[in-house]
Amino acid sequence: MGLVIVTHGPEETEQLGERLGKRLQSGDVVALSGELGAGKTCLVRGLARGWGAVDHPTSPTFTLINEYRRERDSQRFYHVDAYRLADARDAQTLGLEDALDAAGVVVVEWAERIRGALPDAALWIEVEDLGGDVRRFCFDPRGSHAEKIIAGIEEA
Ligand code: ADP
Ligand code: MG
Repeated sequence: MGLVIVTHGPEETEQLGERLGKRLQSGDVVALSGELGAGKTCLVRGLARGWGAVDHPTSPTFTLINEYRRERDSQRFYHVDAYRLADARDAQTLGLEDALDAAGVVVVEWAERIRGALPDAALWIEVEDLGGDVRRFCFDPRGSHAEKIIAGIEEA
C-alpha cells in the first residue's frame, strides 16, 4: 500500500505539489493520472513553484509541452498534457523524447495515455475527486529516486 494524501482545497494541493517539487532532480519524471478537473494542473503549479520555476504554469492544452526555467541553473521543467494524444507514438512525434533527454524534470498529465513512451522509473500519482473540495492523491513510486522522494514526504 503506497502513500495516500487527501487535500481539502486547491491551496492545499499546491502546497503538496510544492513539497514534492522541492525534491525533484534532473531526470525525474512525474506521471499524473485522473479525470478532468481532478486537480492535476493545480498540483503541477505547486510542483513548478517548489522546483523553482520563474513563471506560473498554465495548462498546455494547445501546445502539448510547456517549458519552464529557473534562475539557479540551466535545468528545465517540462509540463506535458497528453489529453489530446492517441498513443505513445504520437507523444514521440510531438517532442516528448527531447524533453526526456534534456536536463530537467518532466511532469505529464494524462500519463496513462502515453505509458509506453515514459521511462519505467517515474513517480506515478493518481488524483481522484472525492466530491466538493476533497481530492485524493495515491502515490506509486517506481524506481529508487521516486521512492526516495516519497520516503522524504512521509517523514516530514
Ligand atoms: P485537472 O488538471 O486534473 O483537469 P485542474 O487542476 O485544472 O484539474 O482543476 C481542478 C479544479 O478543482 C479547480 O477548479 C480547483 O479549484 C478545484 N479544486 C477543488 N478542490 C481542490 C483540491 N483539493 N485540489 C485541487 N483542485 C481543487
Ligand atoms: Mg489539467
